[in-house]
Amino acid sequence: MKLNDQFTSRPGDDLPRIMMYVCPKKHVTVSVDVDVGITLKNIACGKKLCNLQASSSGEYYPTPYPEDTKPEWEWYRPNKREYMSLSETYRDWVNSGGLLIRWRTKAEPILHGDPRLNEDHVFWKDRTFLEQYQ
Ligand SMILES: [Zn+2]
Repeated sequence: MKLNDQFTSRPGDDLPRIMMYVCPKKHVTVSVDVDVGITLKNIACGKKLCNLQASSSGEYYPTPYPEDTKPEWEWYRPNKREYMSLSETYRDWVNSGGLLIRWRTKAEPILHGDPRLNEDHVFWKDRTFLEQYQ
Protein backbone atom coordinates (compact mmCIF):
# COMPACT_ATOMS: atom_id res chain seq x y z
CA MET A 1 0.00 0.00 0.00
CA LYS A 2 1.39 3.39 -0.98
CA LEU A 3 1.62 5.94 1.79
CA ASN A 4 0.20 9.40 1.38
CA ASP A 5 3.02 11.81 0.56
CA GLN A 6 1.78 14.40 3.05
CA PHE A 7 2.70 12.13 5.90
CA THR A 8 6.20 11.55 7.06
CA SER A 9 6.53 7.83 7.11
CA ARG A 10 7.45 6.34 10.42
CA PRO A 11 8.93 3.03 11.47
CA GLY A 12 6.13 0.50 11.56
CA ASP A 13 3.92 2.20 8.97
CA ASP A 14 3.92 -1.01 6.97
CA LEU A 15 2.65 -3.02 9.94
CA PRO A 16 -1.00 -3.97 10.51
CA ARG A 17 -2.95 -2.31 13.30
CA ILE A 18 -2.86 -5.10 15.82
CA MET A 19 -4.41 -4.82 19.27
CA MET A 20 -3.90 -7.16 22.20
CA TYR A 21 -6.54 -7.64 24.89
CA VAL A 22 -5.82 -9.37 28.18
CA CYS A 23 -8.45 -10.66 30.63
CA PRO A 24 -7.89 -11.07 34.41
CA LYS A 25 -6.99 -14.74 33.80
CA LYS A 26 -4.21 -13.55 31.44
CA HIS A 27 -5.82 -14.97 28.30
CA VAL A 28 -4.61 -12.93 25.34
CA THR A 29 -7.03 -12.02 22.55
CA VAL A 30 -5.38 -10.54 19.45
CA SER A 31 -7.28 -8.49 16.88
CA VAL A 32 -6.37 -6.71 13.68
CA ASP A 33 -8.16 -3.84 11.91
CA VAL A 34 -9.34 -4.56 8.37
CA ASP A 35 -11.23 -1.26 7.99
CA VAL A 36 -10.45 2.28 9.05
CA GLY A 37 -12.45 3.16 12.13
CA ILE A 38 -12.75 3.07 15.87
CA THR A 39 -12.27 -0.04 17.98
CA LEU A 40 -13.16 -0.74 21.60
CA LYS A 41 -10.69 -0.68 24.47
CA ASN A 42 -12.52 -3.51 26.25
CA ILE A 43 -14.06 -6.62 24.71
CA ALA A 44 -15.27 -10.01 25.89
CA CYS A 45 -12.32 -12.38 26.29
CA GLY A 46 -11.85 -14.40 23.10
CA LYS A 47 -10.95 -17.58 24.98
CA LYS A 48 -13.68 -20.20 24.82
CA LEU A 49 -15.80 -20.45 27.98
CA CYS A 50 -14.14 -17.42 29.55
CA ASN A 51 -16.77 -14.77 30.14
CA LEU A 52 -14.45 -12.15 31.59
CA GLN A 53 -13.77 -8.74 30.10
CA ALA A 54 -10.46 -8.32 28.28
CA SER A 55 -8.76 -4.92 28.13
CA SER A 56 -6.20 -3.41 25.79
CA SER A 57 -3.73 -0.65 26.46
CA GLY A 58 -5.61 1.29 23.77
CA GLU A 59 -2.31 1.86 21.98
CA TYR A 60 -1.45 0.71 18.48
CA TYR A 61 1.80 2.65 18.44
CA PRO A 62 4.50 1.64 19.07
CA THR A 63 4.00 -1.96 18.06
CA PRO A 64 5.88 -4.19 20.49
CA TYR A 65 4.22 -7.30 19.09
CA PRO A 66 6.25 -10.31 18.07
CA GLU A 67 6.41 -10.69 14.29
CA ASP A 68 4.61 -14.02 14.43
CA THR A 69 1.60 -12.56 16.26
CA LYS A 70 -1.47 -14.08 14.64
CA PRO A 71 -4.73 -12.21 15.18
CA GLU A 72 -7.75 -14.46 15.61
CA TRP A 73 -10.25 -11.61 15.48
CA GLU A 74 -10.73 -8.65 13.20
CA TRP A 75 -12.39 -5.25 13.45
CA TYR A 76 -14.46 -4.54 10.33
CA ARG A 77 -17.15 -2.22 8.98
CA PRO A 78 -20.42 -4.08 8.33
CA ASN A 79 -21.94 -4.11 4.86
CA LYS A 80 -25.38 -2.63 4.32
CA ARG A 81 -27.21 -5.92 4.83
CA GLU A 82 -25.56 -6.50 8.19
CA TYR A 83 -25.93 -2.85 9.13
CA MET A 84 -29.70 -3.04 8.57
CA SER A 85 -29.90 -5.97 10.98
CA LEU A 86 -28.15 -4.10 13.80
CA SER A 87 -29.87 -2.59 16.80
CA GLU A 88 -30.11 1.19 16.95
CA THR A 89 -27.29 1.26 19.50
CA TYR A 90 -24.93 -0.58 17.17
CA ARG A 91 -26.00 1.53 14.20
CA ASP A 92 -25.12 4.65 16.18
CA TRP A 93 -21.75 3.10 16.95
CA VAL A 94 -21.10 2.31 13.28
CA ASN A 95 -22.33 5.77 12.20
CA SER A 96 -19.75 7.28 14.54
CA GLY A 97 -17.00 5.32 12.86
CA GLY A 98 -17.11 2.31 15.14
CA LEU A 99 -16.10 -1.08 13.81
CA LEU A 100 -17.53 -4.49 14.72
CA ILE A 101 -15.47 -7.54 15.67
CA ARG A 102 -15.64 -11.03 14.17
CA TRP A 103 -13.45 -14.09 13.64
CA ARG A 104 -10.51 -13.39 11.36
CA THR A 105 -11.24 -13.70 7.64
CA LYS A 106 -8.86 -13.26 4.72
CA ALA A 107 -9.58 -9.52 4.60
CA GLU A 108 -6.48 -7.37 4.10
CA PRO A 109 -5.42 -5.55 7.27
CA ILE A 110 -5.24 -1.77 7.54
CA LEU A 111 -1.67 -0.58 7.98
CA HIS A 112 -0.44 2.09 10.36
CA GLY A 113 0.59 4.22 7.39
CA ASP A 114 -2.83 4.09 5.72
CA PRO A 115 -3.47 7.52 4.14
CA ARG A 116 -7.04 7.49 5.47
CA LEU A 117 -5.62 7.85 8.96
CA ASN A 118 -4.52 11.32 10.02
CA GLU A 119 -1.11 12.50 11.16
CA ASP A 120 -1.50 10.85 14.53
CA HIS A 121 -2.20 7.54 12.78
CA VAL A 122 -5.02 7.04 15.25
CA PHE A 123 -8.19 8.84 14.15
CA TRP A 124 -9.73 8.90 10.72
CA LYS A 125 -11.52 11.74 9.00
CA ASP A 126 -13.16 10.27 5.93
CA ARG A 127 -16.83 9.49 6.61
CA THR A 128 -17.85 8.71 3.06
CA PHE A 129 -18.43 5.13 4.23
CA LEU A 130 -21.78 6.38 5.58
CA GLU A 131 -23.08 6.66 2.00
CA GLN A 132 -23.27 2.90 1.67
CA TYR A 133 -25.94 2.76 4.40
CA GLN A 134 -28.25 5.32 2.77
ZN1 LIG B 1 -10.19 -14.92 29.56
